[in-house]
Amino acid sequence: MPELPEVEAASRIARRAVRGETIAEVEVLHPAQRRSLPRRAAQALAGDRVTRVARRAKYQVLHLASGRSLVVHFRMAGDWGVTSPGESLPRHSRVALRFTSGRALVLVDPRALCTVTVVEAGDRPLPELGPEADRPSFSAAHLGRALRDRATAIKPLLLDQSIVAGIGNIYASEALWRARLDPRRPGRDVQPAEVKRVVAAVHRVMREALAHPERYYQDGEDGLRFRVYDREGQPCRRCRGPIQRITQAGRSTYWCPACQR
Ligand SMILES: [Zn+2]
Repeated sequence: MPELPEVEAASRIARRAVRGETIAEVEVLHPAQRRSLPRRAAQALAGDRVTRVARRAKYQVLHLASGRSLVVHFRMAGDWGVTSPGESLPRHSRVALRFTSGRALVLVDPRALCTVTVVEAGDRPLPELGPEADRPSFSAAHLGRALRDRATAIKPLLLDQSIVAGIGNIYASEALWRARLDPRRPGRDVQPAEVKRVVAAVHRVMREALAHPERYYQDGEDGLRFRVYDREGQPCRRCRGPIQRITQAGRSTYWCPACQR
């Protein structure tokens, strides 16, 4: 699933492609997307202009001149495509924003799970979200407060977007490996020095991924992509112990039992 760094990279593409463009038509190309964007809501967007593209957590918000906004979530496998006038839409196109210039911004998603929602002017576009994972506002003081009294394990707590925004399953495993912390540790048992290590690790993982957004989509054992994620049974890059996969809150966690305590 695309996480903060990948959604940020995608939102830069959208920003370049659509700022100042006027919507000619919004085509909903798959029934699954009609649930979040019914035909009538899509039709009502014609004539509106995109003034700004923002990202918050894993959401992208296309602000429109009318005061409305379009909130886009890629879910598991969404991404943007941009087409030139006259060019046909890419495979797995789910929603196409066609502009008066003839260009289009297209939501491409093989799994058709992505969502596009219209938020009316004055309405709250996003749920309650914690500080962005790559920002100083995601601090040891903040995380320490959020973990206090929590019996839940640290790994699922890092996926809670109201605690910290933008981390998903991959970078939660990566950050806990960097911090040398056992992902099963209850939040309330994580000591202040360890909280600091987790925050520093999250910042570092985010910084590296933001600097190299292409790595997320690269396969192969080149040592660049992920340190623990998807490496079950392979040697830990720190201690050579075997990486294990466990299930926490229904999601896979990858970690090194030998050096994460
Ligand atoms: Zn290890």
